[in-house]
Order: sequence, then structure tokens, then C-alpha cells
Amino acid sequence: METQAPTASFTHIPNRRPATDEERWIAMENPVFGKVFTDHMARASWREGEGWSDRRIVPLAPIPMHPGAAVLHYAQQVFEGLKAYRHEDGSIWLFRPEANAARLAASARRMALPEVSEADFIAALEGLIAADQNWVPGSPGTSLYLRPLLIATEPSLLVQPASDVDFVVTASPVGAYMSNGDAGVSIWVSTGFHRANAGGTGDVKTAGNYAASMLPQKEAKDHGCQQVLFLDAREDRYVEELGGMNLVAVRADGSVLTPRLTGTILPGVTRDSILTLLRDQGRTVEERDIELAELLQGIEEGEIVELFACGTAAVVTPIGRLVSDGFDVALPALEGESVAEAMLTQLTDIQYGRADDPHGWMRQVVEAPESRED
Ligand SMILES: *Cc1c(COP(=O)(O)O)cnc(C)c1O
Repeated sequence: METQAPTASFTHIPNRRPATDEERWIAMENPVFGKVFTDHMARASWREGEGWSDRRIVPLAPIPMHPGAAVLHYAQQVFEGLKAYRHEDGSIWLFRPEANAARLAASARRMALPEVSEADFIAALEGLIAADQNWVPGSPGTSLYLRPLLIATEPSLLVQPASDVDFVVTASPVGAYMSNGDAGVSIWVSTGFHRANAGGTGDVKTAGNYAASMLPQKEAKDHGCQQVLFLDAREDRYVEELGGMNLVAVRADGSVLTPRLTGTILPGVTRDSILTLLRDQGRTVEERDIELAELLQGIEEGEIVELFACGTAAVVTPIGRLVSDGFDVALPALEGESVAEAMLTQLTDIQYGRADDPHGWMRQVVEAPESRED
């Protein structure tokens, strides 16, 4: 079989002082999400009129930047988040990287940044994973979290699209996500704050959305909740999403309801994958505007029996309670397997190669050791 070398377009400059086996084992033992980084990073540079160059896999290092770099002042940046999974036979796989490549390109267009081609995006990931494959953990639920990033590095305080841009990908081993037991997390429904406006950047994976969500997130914590749920900014009436996860509701009849992608909601790959799997099962999946009042009433009347959040980092997070100034509504305790649990199992079974992959979502990056020809 003829396969392209994984680092074909990204030149590998090895880290001459990688972590020792012992340092790596300690770092990977129980990593806090996003706090541990591997030995390398991928990077490339873009300059107006010249395009992309310097595609490299290099030792992980700080990115020297002029203090006038546009990203530091005007947040001209976009990012992505996806995971590499080690299968039982030792092989390493990505989940739907084309979807993340397409979303990064869409985000880049909105933020007037240059697009990274799908080929470059995947070559960067493959090159980085190949270089740091001993950082991909193998125990159940663990993975290598990949964080592609596009930043405007041009030193300029003029408010205009930067002419110098860097593409960087870092990798972090992450542990098995632990949900908050069977009860699920408590969610604070933000009243004073909104995440996104029509015509703004709510459907773009960009730093500013996250910066603006930190105070409401703090407010949630102050009310004993783990996450915030935002309402639409126009009418303060429809539920949209959490700070970094999409929302799904399950009815007593087994049908599923989720906010439609209005332009103020981030189109999650996990959301799309779960909706696809639910439709595969023959469930009715409705994507439409959902009033908070409808949701609360549905929960109280027993019509809505489950709520969960979904995203790459935590996969599926069951929600146990919705709280705000005027209400505190608990979801019922469920008998038997919840849809959230079933979706977590079904999705991770595909990601870890324990189940068939009917939609061709998995892409092998590193072969199983015994099948290598060298
Ligand atoms: C990244 C993100 C999600 C989840 O997207 P996935 O592709 O499933 O990881 C949801 N909401 C927001 C605001 C996000 O930034």
C-alpha cells in the first residue's frame, strides 16, 4: 500500500531534550485538562502576498511575539479542539479531523484570517502525533487533545486584518473525563449576560467568546453551579448553549430536541455526531428554537426527562439541575440507561475502535506496532 509519509509537508525538527520516560509517565499519570504539553508542536507562518511557509514540527517552545502583535490587542485569533485516540492494538486515530479543518477555515474567514487548507491542517496533526506518539495515553477514556490555533502576529495597533499570521498546534494528554456522578451537573442560566449576538462571533471558535464567558462562569460557580447556559441576546427567551458545549434535551417519548444553529451557536462536531447517531437509531431529532419557559415546563411536567451537554473535551455531560434567579428545577432520576450514557458509550466505542464506524469518521494516523513493516 502506498501511503504518503505523515510529515510530508511538515519538516520534523526533533526535540533533542524530550521528556524522559519517567517524566512523561509522571506527567501522564493524571493530567489536569490542558496543563500538560507534549515535546513538540506544529507550526507554519503566513504572510500577506506570500501565503503559507515554514511548515514544521518543532520542539515545544514559547512563541516570541512583539508586544504590539495584533492578537494581543484585538484578539484576532481562532482555534480548534479535537482528540487522537489510541486503540487496543496500539494504533492511533483522529475523529472527523475534516470537520475541524472546515470549521477552522470558516472561523478564519469570519475573523479575516487566512485559511489553513484541509491538507495542511491534517498534515500538521499527523506530523505532530507521529512525533509525539509515546504521549498518546492508552488507558480507558484517555486521549491526546489537540489544539490548533491561528494568531495574528503582525506588530500593528491599526485595527485591520494582520498581514502576518502563525498557525500553531499543541498536544496535551488528557485523562478520562469524570462526570459528576449520576446526578449530573448543575447549570446556572445566565440572566444578565449573553454569549453571542446576531451577526457577531457566536458560531466562530474564537478567544473573545471565551473571555466574555468567564464572568458569567464565575457567577455560576458563586451559585453552586458548574456551568452556564446562555439565552439568546435578542429576546432573552431561547436557550442557546453552554460556554463551550452544546445542549440536548430528551423527551419522555424518546425523541430529542436541540437548539437549531442560528448563527449564535457554535456548530459542535460532537453535537452533529450525536444527532447523527440518534437519527441512525430511528429517533426523531428536532432542531429548532427552544424557549427556556418551554424547557422548564417540560421538565416539571415530566415531558422532558433528560438534558445533557456535549463537546469534544467532556464528550457528554448529564445535566441534573437548571438554576437561576427565579427557579431551581431538577431533572428526574432515571431508571435504566440514560440517552446521555448511551450516547457516551456509542460515540466513544467508535472513537476507541470498539465498534464499527458506519460513517467513516475515524482516520488512522499511526499504525499498530505489529503491522508496521519496518
Ligand atoms: C468547541 C465548542 C463547542 C463544542 O464543539 P465540539 O466540536 O463538539 O468540540 C460548543 N460550544 C462552544 C462555544 C465551543 O467553543
